[in-house]
Amino acid sequence: MKKLSIVVPCFNEEETVSIFYRTVAPITSKILDLETEYWFIDDGSNDRTLVEMQKLHLQHPDTVHYVSFSRNFGKESALYAGLQASVGDFVVVMDVDLQDPPELIPEMLDELNADNSCDCIGTRRVNRQGEPPIRSFFANQFYKLINRISSTHIVNGARDYRMMTRQMVNAILSMTEYNRFSKGIFSWVGFNTKYLEFKNVERVAGETSWSFWKLLKYSIDGITDFSETPLAIASWTGFISFLFSIIGLLFIIFRAIFIPGSSVSGWASMVCIMLMVGGLELLCLGIVGKYIGKIYLQSKNRPIYIVKEKK
Ligand code: UDP
Ligand code: MG
Repeated sequence: MKKLSIVVPCFNEEETVSIFYRTVAPITSKILDLETEYWFIDDGSNDRTLVEMQKLHLQHPDTVHYVSFSRNFGKESALYAGLQASVGDFVVVMDVDLQDPPELIPEMLDELNADNSCDCIGTRRVNRQGEPPIRSFFANQFYKLINRISSTHIVNGARDYRMMTRQMVNAILSMTEYNRFSKGIFSWVGFNTKYLEFKNVERVAGETSWSFWKLLKYSIDGITDFSETPLAIASWTGFISFLFSIIGLLFIIFRAIFIPGSSVSGWASMVCIMLMVGGLELLCLGIVGKYIGKIYLQSKNRPIYIVKEKK
């Protein structure tokens, strides 16, 4: 009998954990010849999320398991912990707020079983209804930008919600990098992914833990984790402003020679140019610094997460 592992990262989700189990369990139990295990990851919640998980575990000790972190390590770390703990032949990762429709699970499984060359069934939201328009706008710009400057292709609207074969999960586990941008990692490991499409669903209860700034920071991390283009932009900016300064210098020299008495004016423009060049320098330094920061964190070899309790 094949086994399916369901990995669910949770952060402050006391309301949704039990709703999730009540909704998903009837769907998976209907699938013939399939054992299921659940791995809930409590990502350092400060509400009763862990208590809800403990309750579920007591009710279903063989199928429901949980890992609880010592603090909030982020969804990416929670996913990694879940994948590490899972033992199934197939692994599904999904959000606990039911924004990832569980009805798709049997369909994903059928697709994977039917097509041997396929290693992963991903999901794509075809619309972003119910999301603030400004958030959708920036999300779309982000996908355009990252696909232009990174060789790792990231599908617009693709969710983390996906079913993978054990082989692909092992490939993901072999990527032990500290800065984890899952959308990039799923794509980077390769394998054949087919996408199922669905319409956006709003979360059943609770609130999203992603503020606009958190998402912006996340997207910048995504870009710097999977592209070196910002570094190239930094050096090109430096090179071009150097060229301009040479042209300016020649201009000033010629003007001083051929138009006597004209070289005193121009203080204002001088200050502007100095400020501009100084600003560009700092910007480029900042970009370089961002990458150095990543090297720094990686070289410390800190663990991706720390477990406080596991059952
Ligand atoms: N999540 C997590 N750690 C975090 C933030 C979120 O494990 O630091 C989980 C959260 O519990 C949920 C999933 O990641 O299961 C997606 O989060 P959310 O629904 O808040 O994001 P959205 O759907 O609004 O993008
Ligand atoms: Mg959500």
